[in-house]
Amino acid sequence: MNTSVPPSARTQVKRAANYASYDPALLHAIVDAAWVCHIAFTDAHGTHCIPTACWRIGEHLYIHGSNGSRMLKSLMEQDCCVTITHVDGIVLARSAFNHTMNYRSAVIYGRFALVEDKRVTLEAFMDHLAPGRQAQVRAGNDKEYAATTVLRIALTEAACKTRNGPPNDDAEDMGLAVWAGVLPLSEARGTPVPAAECTVEAPEHVRRWGA
Ligand SMILES: Cc1cc2nc3c(=O)[nH]c(=O)nc-3n(C[C@H](O)[C@H](O)[C@H](O)COP(=O)(O)OP(=O)(O)OC[C@H]3O[C@@H](n4cnc5c(N)ncnc54)[C@H](O)[C@@H]3O)c2cc1C
Repeated sequence: MNTSVPPSARTQVKRAANYASYDPALLHAIVDAAWVCHIAFTDAHGTHCIPTACWRIGEHLYIHGSNGSRMLKSLMEQDCCVTITHVDGIVLARSAFNHTMNYRSAVIYGRFALVEDKRVTLEAFMDHLAPGRQAQVRAGNDKEYAATTVLRIALTEAACKTRNGPPNDDAEDMGLAVWAGVLPLSEARGTPVPAAECTVEAPEHVRRWGA
């Protein structure tokens, strides 16, 4: 597979094209590392960009919400743009205008479609959040499933951009007595905090959270 060829005209990265990739494996890794995506769509009140939880199964990104969600209803009627961004570092250059960030980002275009098999897909969501938890909790009942909409969008029309590395200073700035380098950033997992009434021993997915 040629991973340098964009799947469509609107996924052709033009600015800093050396950071672009159309590699499905990279796209999957960016989606799998995300807890949320941002979805841009337009309705009678203008254009909105809304954060929402997401997960991946195979070649699709999934979202869910209440049947009454304005966003979910809109997304079945029009194309949209989904973005995911991970900031990996602040890149400090010797000159102000060469500062940048290290990152992994993805932009996905298409239209969300209704998912009929809500149980399987929502169980996969739980597995994404906390592997093994689905078997330990009270399962969703018919009323809860009936009130919930699950949508998915194909990961076929997408672009990724990644930057990783030190600052790119201009040659004439290299002699400046200015600290240059990267301030790494990462999402941290904290120590689990049991609910006040919880007397149950922490299961493996909780014990492993901060490990
Ligand atoms: C953490 C972070 C911080 C950034 N900060 C800035 C900033 O301060 N100023 C700035 O100008 N740019 C910044 N960028 C880059 C920005 O995302 C755009 O790539 C850039 O602004 C060019 O946009 P464009 O629409 O002109 O690009 P074009 O190259 O014309 O975009 C064409 C197509 O490429 C794809 N594409 C564009 N950007 C991305 C992306 N980031 N990820 C995946 N696909 C993409 C889309 O499909 C888009 O339609 C940042 C990116 C990240 C991830």
